[in-house]
Amino acid sequence: MWQVEVDVDKCTGDEECVNACPAQVFELTDGKADPVNMDECLGCETCVEVCPEGAITVTEV
Ligand code: SF4
Repeated sequence: MWQVEVDVDKCTGDEECVNACPAQVFELTDGKADPVNMDECLGCETCVEVCPEGAITVTEV
């Protein structure tokens, strides 16, 4: 299981993670990335790499 967290203070809603995630984990909610499908996360950390704001952390739980 992977825990995906978005720092909403850093997120600018550019949707890089929404578009890059191979598991469609993210949706945009009120202009911020929201990991609504966290259960589908593969732990690949692509979202961490593509986020220009460094707003995403992925942790194995
Ligand atoms: S770690 Fe990979 S599968 Fe998980 S939310 Fe990020 S891009 Fe999607």
